[in-house]
Amino acid sequence: MLVPPNHRTIQIAFVGAWVALIVFGSFYSRFFTPLTKERLRPCMSVLVGAGFLGFVYLLYGPATFALAAIPVTAIAYLNCRTVRHCPKCAAVNQSPFVISSPGACPRCGNSLVVSSLRNSQHCR
Ligand SMILES: [Zn+2]
Repeated sequence: MLVPPNHRTIQIAFVGAWVALIVFGSFYSRFFTPLTKERLRPCMSVLVGAGFLGFVYLLYGPATFALAAIPVTAIAYLNCRTVRHCPKCAAVNQSPFVISSPGACPRCGNSLVVSSLRNSQHCR
């Protein structure tokens, strides 16, 4: 019979997951190419959001999970939609407007629309 983990174990796993995320994030930002970042970004946004919601469910139950799911889903969606990595200069670009994606890189002027469409086909 499966014994559910206690609160202390879940809290330790939560902190461990954040530490692992910080370590991976530093490797991600330093060593990955812009194309790889652009390919992984939507998947990472969804996975990190789902992982966070999993911990919220385990620690606080279904009511808090339902409450937290709304902003976490919105943040993951907006992160997928409005953040782009420039394939030319590796700059991270975020649109100043909430629902639109950046059209061109403000640092080098490279078009981000074409590259984001090309990269989204790889993620499917
Ligand atoms: Zn650029």
